[in-house]
Amino acid sequence: MTKPAKSPAKSAVSMPGAATDPARPGLERIPNYRSGPLPGVDLDLRDNLNLWGAPPRAMAAVRGAAESLVRSYPSTNAVELSATIAEAAGIDPSEVVAGCGSDDVIDACFRAVASPGERVAHADPTFSMVPILARLNGLEPVAVPLMRDGAADVDALLATGARVIYLCSPNNPTGSVTPDADIRRLVERAPGVVLIDTAYAEFAAGTDWRAEAVAMGKVLVTRTFSKAWGLAGLRVGYGVGSAALVDAVSKARGPYKVSALAELAAVTALREDGDWMLRTSREAIDARERLAAALRGRPGVRVHDSRGNFLLLEVADRAVELAARFQSRGIGVRALPGLTGYGDTLRIGVAPWEQLERVVAVAEELWP
Ligand code: PMP
Repeated sequence: MTKPAKSPAKSAVSMPGAATDPARPGLERIPNYRSGPLPGVDLDLRDNLNLWGAPPRAMAAVRGAAESLVRSYPSTNAVELSATIAEAAGIDPSEVVAGCGSDDVIDACFRAVASPGERVAHADPTFSMVPILARLNGLEPVAVPLMRDGAADVDALLATGARVIYLCSPNNPTGSVTPDADIRRLVERAPGVVLIDTAYAEFAAGTDWRAEAVAMGKVLVTRTFSKAWGLAGLRVGYGVGSAALVDAVSKARGPYKVSALAELAAVTALREDGDWMLRTSREAIDARERLAAALRGRPGVRVHDSRGNFLLLEVADRAVELAARFQSRGIGVRALPGLTGYGDTLRIGVAPWEQLERVVAVAEELWP
């Protein structure tokens, strides 16, 4: 006689150590990043996107994509995209690893180079996903306050002895940069891997770290198609580093992370929409400076210099209230309360000036 099968519910209840929460212990302490449309908002400046549009030739390529592209798997490793990036950056395709947004590349890099329990040091404030991705990979984030001028505190980052040091320049959300000499010193002295996030490089006329990253060996420089390139919805980002590091990151990332349509768009954008990207980035820089000038000097708000496509405003304990006031006028701005060293702030992305005039009109009301 065969034994009657146990009911699944009963066996689950009798499993030793089983809790009602199916997640691994500690996961509940890691925040779940959520964002979505804001009711009543028709000018959303929260995500530092390219509000001049999407790259036109890439859009046309996506609209005309062949059926075979949609029904087949893409290449396991975004081969064509890596080759196109490599050509543009003057490096070898084996030195490029692409992913589902640069988030994916940062995540995979942490997992590739650090073992559970090791540390990831990062500036504070910085890109909010960094400590989250560290924790999700079983790593311990160590926050090091930015210096007063907004540069990363390289000596303090080195003093952590962390296995991975993450440095974002221009930094989100402050828009501040870390001087090249400091970055080189960090790379020379770091005991492990340095990840330089340059998601906003196109808005700052600074050093292109991609070619140097390859020579430096233990450095991964990340970039994204979500900001200046206007392809956030397709999720493409990449890292550049030595072939050995790139190989490790690509293994940790897994296959097929760049979809066929995303690869087609990014490749087409790089080959045919360079002028569009440069023109809209220049306009973003002009809009940033014009907005900063219009907001500066008003009592109750302190505008920080920015090299990104956004501005950070210190607003003394009023971030949530002021963001709601902007929302009531149809404008989405990012409220960042209690930032280390800055207190309550608003981060406002830039857009064509006709749209930013609405921001200036609200500012007139809030800070006359
Ligand atoms: N790095 C920085 C500094 C960012 O601000 C962002 C997005 N806000 C990312 C990385 C991730 O961008 P994506 O995953 O879209 O490439």
